[in-house]
Amino acid sequence: MKRIAVLTSGGDAPGMNAAIRAVVRSGYYHGLEVYGVYRGYTGLIQGDIEKMELGTVGDIIHRGGTVLYSSRCEEFKTEEGRQKAVEQLKKHQIDGLVVIGGDGSFQGAKKLTALGFPTIGVPGTIDNDIPATDFTIGFDTAVNTVVECIDKIRDTATSHERTYIVEVMGRDAGDIALWAGLADGAESILIPEAPYQIDEIVERLQRSSERGKKHSIIIVAEGVGSGMDVADKITDRLGWETRVTVLGHVQRGGSPTAFDRVLASRMGAKAVELLLSGQRDMMVAIRNNDVIGIDFDEALSQKHQPRMELYDLAKILSI
Ligand code: ADP
Repeated sequence: MKRIAVLTSGGDAPGMNAAIRAVVRSGYYHGLEVYGVYRGYTGLIQGDIEKMELGTVGDIIHRGGTVLYSSRCEEFKTEEGRQKAVEQLKKHQIDGLVVIGGDGSFQGAKKLTALGFPTIGVPGTIDNDIPATDFTIGFDTAVNTVVECIDKIRDTATSHERTYIVEVMGRDAGDIALWAGLADGAESILIPEAPYQIDEIVERLQRSSERGKKHSIIIVAEGVGSGMDVADKITDRLGWETRVTVLGHVQRGGSPTAFDRVLASRMGAKAVELLLSGQRDMMVAIRNNDVIGIDFDEALSQKHQPRMELYDLAKILSI
């Protein structure tokens, strides 16, 4: 292995730049040449590939987004599209590829390995929805962003004695809602992995109100549905005025936390190590604070599940 390439694909996540930097720097440390592919699989098919030097990744460890840009690429879902991608990789004499992205990007990466091209995945997504890894790059930053926003919402919720419903991202996973909800002492956390009962939420609000607490924060993961629907149900039952905030894409941006920068640095370097040791078909994961490689097949056949004991704990603490 003499020359490797790196790309970022799918939804961007804070810490992707730190991962790119780690791939480039550790690649050069091990005597490899490293190429950057722009705009994910779109750039791979089009041959938008450039050599990266050590200096190319200077001053990016603290920046959100991805300097390689990202995209969603329908053509890569076709056999012909992937063949074109492999031809481009061969044309540039690239021997191995690191794909930084989410679940969908790994489905694509897996298919690239089926064409015989060595590919290693690095999990980068704010959703934390990739099975087999405790954390994905960007999740910690997104949770911290949500916590910062909810702290601010709490100030106005307290001043006006209102119930606030905050809708957060996470696609089909409840991890962002769960961690942010626990960190914020939310009264209720609604996640797709645990069907909610509106009666239980209403009873909880009533109990708090009887104790003299007039403001509440309810966090709704987008995978559950709209925060507005939850607000309407509460107003129907209690007649209370509520406010809804949909946090949206602020959750995808911002400077990565120290945790995400360290995770991305470790994972990027591990991806290069795996390629050098002859692995061709793996994703990097962190489990019990060890950064390891797991076969794509094994990882992708599992179903992601958030830590449900956190859900139970949040309920106990918001009694
Ligand atoms: P993420 O990686 O953040 O989950 P997407 O699900 O949008 O984002 O996937 C990113 C890209 O990965 C897609 O636009 C497509 O090019 C590729 N991809 C996704 N699923 C597949 C699949 N089943 N087969 C081949 N390529 C795929």
